[in-house]
Amino acid sequence: MFEALSDRLESAWKTLRGQDKISESNIQDALREVRRALLEADVNLQVVKDFIEEVRESALGAEVITGVQPDQQFIKIVHDQLVEIMGATNEPLAESNKPPTVILMAGLQGTGKTTATAKLALHLRKQEQTSLLVATDIYRPAAIDQLVTLGEQIDVPVFQLGTDANPVEIARQGLAAAREQNVDTVIVDTAGRLQIDPEMMSELADIKKAIKPDETLLVVDAMTGQEAANLTQTFHDQIGITGAILTKMDGDTRGGAALSIRQISGKPIKFVGVGEKVEALQPFYPDRMASRILG
Ligand code: GDP
Repeated sequence: MFEALSDRLESAWKTLRGQDKISESNIQDALREVRRALLEADVNLQVVKDFIEEVRESALGAEVITGVQPDQQFIKIVHDQLVEIMGATNEPLAESNKPPTVILMAGLQGTGKTTATAKLALHLRKQEQTSLLVATDIYRPAAIDQLVTLGEQIDVPVFQLGTDANPVEIARQGLAAAREQNVDTVIVDTAGRLQIDPEMMSELADIKKAIKPDETLLVVDAMTGQEAANLTQTFHDQIGITGAILTKMDGDTRGGAALSIRQISGKPIKFVGVGEKVEALQPFYPDRMASRILG
């Protein structure tokens, strides 16, 4: 599907072979190939530039390890740098020491936010944790129905007050219900728009203020590509996120959005969505993602 980085670097290696130190002049070509690979993987341009600089610094002057091909060593440097940026290990969901743990879902419409809400509840159920889902998207009645249907499918209750109530009030009452019912986690699904708009942001900020979530997860469609960077910046600046879920990774994408999200917000991607079904959620593993981005 994509050209592997090791193949692309084939000609660049010719300048590296036989050297005992990786120097500026002999990694130019290699860095150019890494840059091309990242851009093809849809990593944001600025993020790519920053990354290339970091790789250049790590690679320059690195002694070529005896017995290791300099090209292999370079690939390892690039790979390790990617993993380091994306977080060395998978970071689990935050857990409140005073249940319920409150999770706020944020993101644009169509990214898979409602689906991810149900996926998380199923993930928690498999760990014998109870959840309550809260439907605050009053602008699209179908969104409430969708959450209710998903809730029935996974046998997790859904709190809703229809489309006439105020979203902040629904979130507040949903949290109160979760406390009363002693559930472990309450997951609040919110309205998304096709594009970021001030009204959406201020409503989200109000909901956040009202329920003080332990996690605010930005749901990002992996196909968003370059735009993932702006999206993350805006949500993080205006709402403050604690992590992200990258959806639709089952599609034809190398997942460069993952690198952009992490580099821009400094927050971990906690899960990836790999299909439309409620079971299609996996923990995010930085090393696997690094290999996928590099091809
Ligand atoms: P929302 O508007 O953000 O709440 O998005 P939805 O949860 O309604 O999802 C929008 C569409 O994307 C639906 O058709 C979902 O089935 C689909 N979807 C959600 N997550 C994934 C995923 O990880 N992979 C694929 N292929 N489709 C997904």
